[in-house]
Amino acid sequence: MTNTASTNGSSAEMPHDVPVLIVGGSLVGLTTALLLAARGVRALAVERHAGTAIHPRAGHFQIRTTEILREMGLEDEVRQRSRETYDPEGGIIAVESLAGKELARFVSNLNVGVDDRSPTGRIFIDQDVLEPILRRRAEELGATLRYRSEMTSFEQDADGVRAVIRDLDRGKESEVRAKYLVAADGNRSRVRHALGIEKHGYGVLSRSVTIYFEADCAPYLQGRNSGVFYVMNPRLRGFFRLNRVGQKGFLAINTIGEDVTRDEAVNVSAVMNEELARELLRSAIGVPELPMRVRQIIPWEAEASVATRFQQGRVFIAGDAAHIVPPNGGFGGNTGVQDAHNLAWKLAMVLKGQAGPGLLETYTVERQPVGAFTVDQAYGRYATRVVPERGTDNVKPHADDLIVEIGYQYRSTAIVGASDGPLFVHPDELRGRPGSRAPHVWLERNGERISTLDLFGQSFVVLAGSGGGAWRAAAEKGAGALGLPVDFVQVGGGGLVDVNGKFLDAYGLAPAGAALVRPDGFVAWRAEAAPRDDSELAGVLASILDRSRA
Ligand SMILES: Cc1cc2nc3c(=O)[nH]c(=O)nc-3n(C[C@H](O)[C@H](O)[C@H](O)COP(=O)(O)OP(=O)(O)OC[C@H]3O[C@@H](n4cnc5c(N)ncnc54)[C@H](O)[C@@H]3O)c2cc1C
Repeated sequence: MTNTASTNGSSAEMPHDVPVLIVGGSLVGLTTALLLAARGVRALAVERHAGTAIHPRAGHFQIRTTEILREMGLEDEVRQRSRETYDPEGGIIAVESLAGKELARFVSNLNVGVDDRSPTGRIFIDQDVLEPILRRRAEELGATLRYRSEMTSFEQDADGVRAVIRDLDRGKESEVRAKYLVAADGNRSRVRHALGIEKHGYGVLSRSVTIYFEADCAPYLQGRNSGVFYVMNPRLRGFFRLNRVGQKGFLAINTIGEDVTRDEAVNVSAVMNEELARELLRSAIGVPELPMRVRQIIPWEAEASVATRFQQGRVFIAGDAAHIVPPNGGFGGNTGVQDAHNLAWKLAMVLKGQAGPGLLETYTVERQPVGAFTVDQAYGRYATRVVPERGTDNVKPHADDLIVEIGYQYRSTAIVGASDGPLFVHPDELRGRPGSRAPHVWLERNGERISTLDLFGQSFVVLAGSGGGAWRAAAEKGAGALGLPVDFVQVGGGGLVDVNGKFLDAYGLAPAGAALVRPDGFVAWRAEAAPRDDSELAGVLASILDRSRA
């Protein structure tokens, strides 16, 4: 697989000593490089391909991902690029064929119910359009990306990781030393294998293919603006993602033939060729003689599994290397982006000497349960949308998309006072509980409308209510004691304006209370009333950051 669209940067010298080495420069590797760079850590990412993705693959990006893109200053650009191809209000429906009967509407409009809960929204944007945007921003912020560069081996000791990187154009090998290694090297992750980390779950569900094609499907869209059309008919099960004018896109095929309980039905890639691809496309479009151009056929495995742990010593796994899901629900890439967001601030603080290694150990503790839950939910959507005949015996109860996207909670030593009870609940029930994503509330700062989420990203933030002025001194004392920035923001009481009067309720606070929010926008701790004494907050921060071992 090659990419001639972007320069590969392989002619430049390979750095020898870096704080973080990232293996894999696709969606999750690029996001990790970007988020580390935004926190002042100039990581090196190596990627064996010649550039960013050349296939659309992921297209459905969810609330938490767009919130992270917003944090990186990329939301407007990504939205604009999205609109060039997709309808922002697109939906997800099931049809017998594009020209045939409509069977179900899974999602009528991608953004139903999002407005009050997020300053952004879900979008469709193809992975091959998104990745160059991530790449450019990561490089602007100081990340080093090397393409046509493959990590061939690595070993770690108490002080760091030593890796061998092969320049695939020149055949030259160089050694890179890093304090930490992040493996975003995809589902077949060699790093995960080398570490002996096992996966468990539902295994391989089908050996699928994606057929990239061009054909005039516009007349058969019948005014429907859906970004995704599931197809269920006696010839095949799968889904289309088409551009808004219906001229090009792909058909992903998970099963062929009527009896999807047969093993041959799920081994699509074994029998696929261009002639069969055309026949299946005609069946899925529902127009026998439609002229079309098959551009490419790519095999892939639909799998639902999660790794048992995401860290070993100084090496972390993220994205598809850590969890792999079938595309149904659009969770795969999104979950990986969230892994990167969870890990980047922790690595940055440990590298700056602001936190001890215990903070890094919370990465598996926080992200592995989210990975496992997401695998269950994606498997459930595959089972019910693609192969309902196979039964639903091992399908976990369906959770609303909002729960998967922003309803998960973390329980670890980097959260103080997390509640017991289910880890995954509707975001409206969370109300700023420690361990949950800090809720979105519209505020006004110097006449400008901002979201609470716009306050997070770089530092810990003490977010206090209208009567919570005493928290300013506590924040200053905490910052001084730990030698790190802690922002103080008061909402109401002369501070930022609580535009709709929702702040206290959304954060579950009394006016004198405050929430301590981590740099990844998760509530680390909450005090419902005024500080007991000035050093209370410093103690909480020291415990979260594992300061005794820093
Ligand atoms: C048809 C389809 C539709 C999808 N739709 C969605 C969707 O709508 N929403 C969504 O969120 N997700 C979707 N996904 C899933 C999404 O594409 C993946 O989850 C995402 O690409 C994972 O990113 P990653 O960076 O973890 O891994 P990958 O994209 O697999 O990238 C890993 C990279 O590591 C590189 N690499 C591996 N080993 C080495 C090495 N030793 N040295 C150097 N480089 C190495 C590889 O070349 C590769 O580029 C879809 C997937 C498919 C197949």
